[in-house]
Amino acid sequence: MARYTGPVCRMCRVEQKKLMLKGNRCKSDKCPMNKKRAAPGKDPKSRPGKRSDYGVQLREKQKLKRIYGMLEKQFSLFFDRAMRMPGITGENLLALLERRLDNVVYRMRFASSRSQARQLVLHGHICVNGKKITIPSYLVDPENEISIAEGSRKMAIIRESLKEFGKSGVMPWLSLDPDTMKGKFLLIPKRIDISDLGDIKEQMIIELYSK
Ligand code: SF4
Repeated sequence: MARYTGPVCRMCRVEQKKLMLKGNRCKSDKCPMNKKRAAPGKDPKSRPGKRSDYGVQLREKQKLKRIYGMLEKQFSLFFDRAMRMPGITGENLLALLERRLDNVVYRMRFASSRSQARQLVLHGHICVNGKKITIPSYLVDPENEISIAEGSRKMAIIRESLKEFGKSGVMPWLSLDPDTMKGKFLLIPKRIDISDLGDIKEQMIIELYSK
């Protein structure tokens, strides 16, 4: 599956929002977003122009897509699936994104970023219900058990990342036992639960795709 290989921090500068794409670096002083820099290609002294409705909707979609590390084709497939599900499309979309295996691995603190989680999945370090799964977009169901494959439990990046569990635990829809490196996806989160997405307006993404 194709993936973005360009400069990562540039995406945050384009969106003028910390998208938290580089793990621990995002929480450190090294994050370029801590220095007030204009978006790439913009004169730092120029006033921000007024965006069209289309421009605002496009930026919301790009932000969400970039947070979850997806390219356009796969993101639009997720959107199509969300539309076919009963309920509110925007909430369905976020629930599907949260169910992605790479996202669950990141949320469980096995990796410090979604891109690192994706690598762990691709390289066969992750099991779902005891079976190795190497598809980052695999959708996890409630009550599924996510664990680190037996031969991978000594990996330094996993152990280092798990230190974050001691500081801030996991999201309320997950459980984790850091000693056995096993956790559960307890239930599908609601929009209100996914507080770290901040001001993302999923309704604008629906409007964009509905044109
Ligand atoms: Fe974005 Fe993280 Fe880079 Fe900061 S360090 S610009 S939050 S990816």
